[in-house]
Amino acid sequence: MSLQGHSGQLSSLSVTGTMPEAYVTLATNNGYAAGALVLAHSLRSCGTSKDLCIIITPAVSPDMKSLLEQVFNNVVTVDVLDSGDSAHLALMKRPELGVTFTKLHCWTLTQYTKCVFLDADMLAVQNADELFSHPELTAVCDIGWPDCFNSGMFVFIPSQDTYEKLIHMSETTGSFDGGDQGILNTFFPNWNRVSFIFNMVASATYTYLPAYKQFGGNAKLVHFLGATKPWHYRYDSSSGTVQTGPGYQHLAPYLNSWWAIYTRLVKPNVPEMDVQKAVEVKTPVETIQIAQQISGMHIGAESLQEGQARWERGEPDYLGRDSFANIQAYIDTKIKSNGK
Ligand code: UDP
Ligand code: MN
Repeated sequence: MSLQGHSGQLSSLSVTGTMPEAYVTLATNNGYAAGALVLAHSLRSCGTSKDLCIIITPAVSPDMKSLLEQVFNNVVTVDVLDSGDSAHLALMKRPELGVTFTKLHCWTLTQYTKCVFLDADMLAVQNADELFSHPELTAVCDIGWPDCFNSGMFVFIPSQDTYEKLIHMSETTGSFDGGDQGILNTFFPNWNRVSFIFNMVASATYTYLPAYKQFGGNAKLVHFLGATKPWHYRYDSSSGTVQTGPGYQHLAPYLNSWWAIYTRLVKPNVPEMDVQKAVEVKTPVETIQIAQQISGMHIGAESLQEGQARWERGEPDYLGRDSFANIQAYIDTKIKSNGK
């Protein structure tokens, strides 16, 4: 498949502004931008007829920005720190909502009549353009609290008025989960539910394997939600496979597809970039999960569940098992022993 030629052709179409509907994603740094590039190529290879648009912040490097411009029809830079921006004052009151306010900017893309937002950690495995026939706000149940929708994928209608209302609500009511999902679920209580196949959370297939075996083949959009992103895994380019630990093998086909696209279509254009280093790891527990999923082993005598319970009780063992230096050293050892 010659995706690059294909995307170049679509880029020129965007100049004429003939496509009123778009998939929209977001990247505030180079790591997520690499994820967004894989997502864009996967959407094109599934034959989408829609525009591809990305919202970025000034933290994305100029080199990465020009690469994004080759693949996306529309690259929009948003700076919530700019005092001319509506989110600016709200950000002063709620600084924790930085990335969230950037995501809300998708409602300002009024050159489009309808859009589908997709997280940058998603992958298209089949054409999902039928989503554009659904109303605002259409989404998929969250796997943690299914009365809420997961904000990794949602159908929306750009509108400056809705944008201002969303910013106002963020500033006054706030977000019950500290992020965009809390705000959007408060703002759109009567959302329209579509099948899980439009935002299939890859890790959920582990907790409900029989359903995955029954329905997983219908998946159209896969979401690598959580701490372990595809770029955290090690990929063996000679065999074309990703190393997954026991219990996570069912993720392998999606991870292999992600890496196949990354290796063939993204990496050659960013040879100096180590995507695994470009993405920050969030907490010691998440780092342990990553290490365990990669290695399939437990660190020390304590299981992940015991360690997680202790972490959730507010008793992290910062100087012992959960110390970042320990975990980093462990990961380095695993990588060295497995890597060539
Ligand atoms: N994101 C970003 N920079 C960040 C964190 C998040 O650009 O530092 C964007 C990116 O599009 C990402 C989305 O916000 O996919 C939601 O974050 P993430 O996917 O990490 O959350 P999860 O789906 O794991 O809850
Ligand atoms: Mn996500």
